[in-house]
This record gives sequence, structure tokens and C-alpha cells, in this order.
Amino acid sequence: MSEKIQSIRGMNDLLPEESGLWQKVEQILRSSLNGYGYQEIRMPIVEKTDLFKRSIGEVTDIVEKEMYTFEDRNGDNLTLRPEGTAGCVRAVIENGLLRGQAQRLWYTGPMFRHERPQRGRYRQFHQFGVEVFGLEGPDVDAELIAISARIWKQLGIKEVTLQLNTLGSTDSRALYREKLVAYFKQHLDQLDEDSLRRLESNPLRILDSKNSDMAALIAAAPVLEDSLDEADRAHFEQLKASLDQMGISYEINPRLVRGLDYYGRTVFEWVTTLLGAQGTICAGGRYDGLVDQIGGKATPAVGFAMGLERLVELMKEQDDFEYAAAPDAYLVLAGEQAATAGLALAEQLRSALPELQLVTNLGGGSFKAQFKRADRSAARFALVVGDDELEQGTMTVKDLKGELEQQTLSIQGVVDLLSSYN
Ligand code: ATP
Ligand code: MG
Repeated sequence: MSEKIQSIRGMNDLLPEESGLWQKVEQILRSSLNGYGYQEIRMPIVEKTDLFKRSIGEVTDIVEKEMYTFEDRNGDNLTLRPEGTAGCVRAVIENGLLRGQAQRLWYTGPMFRHERPQRGRYRQFHQFGVEVFGLEGPDVDAELIAISARIWKQLGIKEVTLQLNTLGSTDSRALYREKLVAYFKQHLDQLDEDSLRRLESNPLRILDSKNSDMAALIAAAPVLEDSLDEADRAHFEQLKASLDQMGISYEINPRLVRGLDYYGRTVFEWVTTLLGAQGTICAGGRYDGLVDQIGGKATPAVGFAMGLERLVELMKEQDDFEYAAAPDAYLVLAGEQAATAGLALAEQLRSALPELQLVTNLGGGSFKAQFKRADRSAARFALVVGDDELEQGTMTVKDLKGELEQQTLSIQGVVDLLSSYN
């Protein structure tokens, strides 16, 4: 035997025992967004490296240390996408989707970051993202938050809180930046290496530091709120009023700056205490400057992304979590004749019940062996076809939960029974 080839660290297989739950989550996400009139967009997984440098920002963790970047056979510099916003913005510009109209979009798929793998942090992970272009008011920000809140309800997630902040306009941030640099310069000896480097290039990023030695310093830093202008304040106040009216509670977190450069005004994160250090399940905000920065006509934009691994993990942490993937029925085919005829019978049932989840016994086996497989499949019913049933055009239905008596029914009778349990 040859040596086994293993998967790449931080990149996981999604196994059959989990994939049903993932499908359910994805289905709820899709139908929620479609329900608000948002449309799906699919972008390539690989983009030019420059796209991410220009959008996420050169002086960010992602661009400095986390991207999977390579030269292809033409010598072009390419990167596996670390997030979806940059590619989405590129796509809407390139395809002319911003001409005189708003766009409400969503996407989902794998993202790649070379981080230290741990619970809730992987090198290939999956996001569900939403982006709105061409609408500048706080009503959109509020709707996005309402969408995410509704999704938590549908997924049965209760232990999650909304953190909210405003980063102000570009001008307000410039003013704040000066104050912040002045503050950190008074405490140079307490800054770590990353922060010293960022002091000139990107001082706001220092607030996002995960270094606990700097937590006290950061906690005492000036807050952006004092630098906000009138329009920023009005935007934020209206957003909060909408949330209040919808009954969505939030905590204002003045330290929330987000790890990407393109945000301005509204930023938010949904966080939980149930997932250890990786507690953010959804993060987003407004990025009015980005479309222009990537070569489009200046267009306001706002969006969020959810981390699906963390979302699924959090669902499982809920007290009342319940999920069991099981087919409706398992077709037991007793005898050679039934083994041949069984496939046609299964097709007949599927035609009558398009939603039916039916596993057909393949590969023969004794009656006993087939029943064992039926049990293992966790199906509710075993449908048995043997010589007698074949002759009479019937099936014997055994309730594997043991609530109904065993009965022999016509095919139509089986269809009626199954449809009442579907
Ligand atoms: P964190 O602060 O946890 O590193 P981030 O600010 O880098 O997150 P975003 O770029 O805003 O995250 O991505 C949105 C969401 O995607 C996060 O809130 C999280 O749920 C998920 N996510 C980000 N990075 C990873 C990762 N390496 N593994 C799994 N999920 C991730
Ligand atoms: Mg990160």
C-alpha cells in the first residue's frame, strides 16, 4: 500500500453525518434572503491579488499575513479569496450592475485565510454574505440587521448579542486618527511590534489588536464618537431608532472597528459567549468608499458576512438543539424477483411523492441483513416487497418506531400513508 495523502491543515471535509444540517442551514439562509428580495451572485474563488490589496487594505492581518497567494502559469499574481466583498464589488462594477439602480445581493462559498487553526478558525471556511449597493440611508443598515436577527430565530439561535458602532465619515475618521496617534505616541513603550508599525500607516487597526497585554491601553484610548460630524450622528441615531422600533436590542461598542479597512459609518457584529475565543458569528458594516476605490463610480454600499462553521457550531450549543437526518422509508426487497422489480416500484413511489426520501436496498442480502440496514438508516418505515406482495401489487409496511401496527397495503395505500407522514 502506498503512503496515505492527508488533507491540508485547517481545511476540513464536511462528512455525511454533518452535511444534512449544513444543507438545512443553507436552505434557511437562501430562502430568508430571497424573501427580502435579495438575489444570488456567484463569483470566482480566485481573483487578482491586487483586488484584495486595494480593497481590504495593505496594512491588515489578512493582506499582511493570511492570504493564499501564488503565481499561475502565466506569471499572474493571484489569490484564493479571503472574503467575498472585494470580488462582489469587482463583479458588480465589471458587469455594469450599478448603472442607475440599487442591487441587493447575497453569495455563499469557501474563503481562505492562512490563520492558526483552532475551534471556529480554519484555513478554508465558509461564509454567507450579503451586500447592498446604491442605497445610502440607515434604513438599509437596519434592514440588514433585521435580516440577520430573523435568521437567528429561524435557526433556533438565542444566545447572541448585537454590538454596534459607527466609524463616521472619512473626514471624521481623519480627525479621530490624529487624536489616536497623539495618544499612542504618549505610550510608545506599551505598543507591541505590530502596533508600532501601524501607528503611522493605520492607527485605527491598533484598536482591533488581539494582544491582551495592550487591552488596558486600548480601553483608555480616545473614542471616535467625539469626532463624529452632524450627518454621521443623524445616520447613527436613525439606525438606532429603527432597531428600537423593531425590538432589536444592541450594545454600543466604541472599540468595534472591524479587521478590514473599507468600513465607514455603521459597523456591527453578532457575538456569542458559547464558542470560546471565536465568538463572532456575523460581522458587517457600511463601506461607501470601496466601489470608487476599486475603479467604479462612487456608490454607497453596506453588507455583512456570517461564518457558517461558527453558526452551525452555535446551533449545536443551544439547549433545545435537535436535528436528525433520516429518510422516510427503506425499501426491503425479499427474493430475487423483488430485487429486480423493486427499482420500478421505488420509481412509482417517487413519481407519486416527489418529496419522498426513500432508500432502496441495493446489493441483495438476507431479509435480516436488509432490516438491519433499514434500522441503521434511521428511516421511519420499512417497506417490504416479497413474492406475495409482488403478486398482489402490495407492500408490507413496518413502522420502525413501533407506533403503527404492521400492515399490507396497495401501492396507493402506501402512497397515502407516506404522504400523511411527510
Ligand atoms: P475574527 O475577528 O474572528 O478573526 P474577522 O473580523 O476576521 O473575524 P470577517 O472578515 O469579518 O471576520 O468575516 C466574517 C465572519 O466570518 C466572522 O465573523 C467569522 O464568523 C467568520 N470567519 C472569519 N475568519 C474565519 C476563519 N478563519 N474560520 C472560520 N470562520 C471565520
Ligand atoms: Mg480575522
